[in-house]
Amino acid sequence: MTTASNKRLLLAERPEGRAVKESDFRLEAALVPAPGEGQVLLRTLFLSLDPYMRGRMSAARSYAPPAELGAVMVGEVVGEIVESRAPGLSRGDLVLAYAGWQEYAALPAKAVERIDRASLGDLPVSYLLGVLGMPGATAYFALDTIGKPKSGETVLISAAAGAVGQVAGQIAKLKGCRVIACAGAADKLAFVTGELGFDAGVDYKGKDAAALAAEFAGHAPNGIDVFFDNVGGVTHDAAMMTLALRGRVIICGVISSSDRVGQPDTGTRWNRQLLVKRALMQGFLVGDHRARWPEFRAAMGEWLKSGRIRYREDIVDGIEAAPRAFIGLLSGANRGKALVRVAR
Ligand code: NDP
Repeated sequence: MTTASNKRLLLAERPEGRAVKESDFRLEAALVPAPGEGQVLLRTLFLSLDPYMRGRMSAARSYAPPAELGAVMVGEVVGEIVESRAPGLSRGDLVLAYAGWQEYAALPAKAVERIDRASLGDLPVSYLLGVLGMPGATAYFALDTIGKPKSGETVLISAAAGAVGQVAGQIAKLKGCRVIACAGAADKLAFVTGELGFDAGVDYKGKDAAALAAEFAGHAPNGIDVFFDNVGGVTHDAAMMTLALRGRVIICGVISSSDRVGQPDTGTRWNRQLLVKRALMQGFLVGDHRARWPEFRAAMGEWLKSGRIRYREDIVDGIEAAPRAFIGLLSGANRGKALVRVAR
């Protein structure tokens, strides 16, 4: 053990049936761990903040087990190896790992993925957690395997200015589609229509499903061919009313009900609409597509380097800032992919 300090955030309380509070996390200063045989000591550069973490804070069953109370909060980081006792990994190597909300972690070699720095070119390492990482892969694979957008089709994206949405919309544009963005702030819509080239923007705030559906229909006179649903709730209902014949609905996220995890989810039944439109609605999980990540990274890397895809990040500094930024992400305060810069 060294005497240097490792600041970390533990899950102190589970927010069940209520919004997340900063006091659900506890900051503590631990000792920097010493790596054992076959392990590396990783120093976090960036921590990714993602909506799935809200689900992990709850005890409700999901596709992954809950985060443990009193343990370091879960999360993916990009970091640098500062000490290695594992063959094939060296001091200075850039790695991805689920190291959690902390400045340092000692991890077995198999828990880190070494990244070839040269492959990034001039792209920032933080992109490995965003457009070149899990959110980018979500946009890429959900469109490739479920949405299948074709040139001339209309694609609607909810949470369109976020980590996943901004990439999904740009891929749909590259495929020759008309893209309608839905988001909860005028400046977010101005960003995706003005800077990313989306065709139209709709602000869902303060509108019921009928009003929202009328706005969607105004931008999609022939209906929505692909609905990339990141939020659920009222936006989902409005999009379902506006589906085109043989539309495809990607159920990617349900952030609008994230404080009601585990509670009965009842609402409008869309069976008739799916039947009449012969539409497809399918759930998506990015983790099912690990085998195709090299293909995704190569394609996305090319799009980024050639300037055909751009990416906005929202970065706060210091591990202490993570709880507040995370709460901001859940309520729409983030402007782009939410990240914590833990060290420079
Ligand atoms: P974002 O960067 O888009 O941030 C979340 C956004 O959700 C907020 O900025 C806010 O934007 C929006 N939001 C929050 N509350 C509500 C609400 N009540 N109604 C409507 N919108 C709301 O996050 P990500 O891009 O990382 O994730 C987007 C979605 O994709 C999430 O639901 C996430 O869980 C899901 N996801 C799913 C994956 C999978 O494999 N299935 C993988 C990765 C992400 P606004 O201002 O527009 O309201």
